Amino acid sequence: MKDMIEQYRVTAEPYYRPVTNEVEMFEAAYAAKMPVMLKGPTGCGKTRFVEHMAWKLGKPLVTVACNEDMTASDIVGRFLLDADGTRWQDGPLTFAARHGAICYLDEIVEARQDTTVVIHPLTDNRRVLPLEKKGELLRAHEDFHLVISYNPGYQSLMKDLKQSTKQRFGALDFNYPEHGVEVEIVAHESGIDPKDADKLVSIAERARNLKGHGLDEGISTRMLIHAASLMAQGIPAVAACQMALVRPITDDPDMRDALDAAVTTYF
Ligand code: ADP
Repeated sequence: MKDMIEQYRVTAEPYYRPVTNEVEMFEAAYAAKMPVMLKGPTGCGKTRFVEHMAWKLGKPLVTVACNEDMTASDIVGRFLLDADGTRWQDGPLTFAARHGAICYLDEIVEARQDTTVVIHPLTDNRRVLPLEKKGELLRAHEDFHLVISYNPGYQSLMKDLKQSTKQRFGALDFNYPEHGVEVEIVAHESGIDPKDADKLVSIAERARNLKGHGLDEGISTRMLIHAASLMAQGIPAVAACQMALVRPITDDPDMRDALDAAVTTYF
């Protein structure tokens, strides 16, 4: 088991460019054992931030991509049948709580509400996880920390976190970084010339203004890095932008024309 947890250790420093005071705030929340919610659109650096913080704090990181089919057993654990009979297997949340990892539940709203409530006893002073089927009350390891991500843009009445869940977390707002910082990130991640990264960020800023006017989400930092990586492979900028920025985000012909026009304004 000791070896298993070692696999989750972040050994090399993940590049993360701080945007405001999020690094200090996270460190303080970790020390205070306050669970943290990272709020913001997809592709703006939440996962990278958690990876960086796990590395900085020297703690293993267990990540779970939540989905609507996920049951409580998928994160808590279950009995498995093997040749010798039944054997309990910890789910990722239990594993992290037992061995002192940071557990990152990505897109928690996707999970069913009966799944979400299992985290409650871990988020208050008790820091316990009742494993009812196993008859064990697990006390979380000293180093265990719970982090969830949440995209407020996707929220609807049917799919939102309950207040009783939200109020257990301290929250950090994430968004697309301001122009100069995003240029730095795109250039760093792809290796392209900062002048070209600057143009990509300008295209994204135009597209982000179309959010709610035909686009559900803005062009993310992740998408800009995709376009830049194609350019780094020698693909001409316009073709790279079509593949990585325009086509993935919309099927609407008029919206595609509008985005193509933004691309040709800069390249
Ligand atoms: P999210 O979890 O918010 O969906 P990610 O953390 O996967 O998004 O971010 C997408 C990509 O954007 C990352 O892989 C990373 O390359 C880049 N990125 C975004 N913000 C930053 C940042 N502040 N510092 C370094 N890289 C960043």
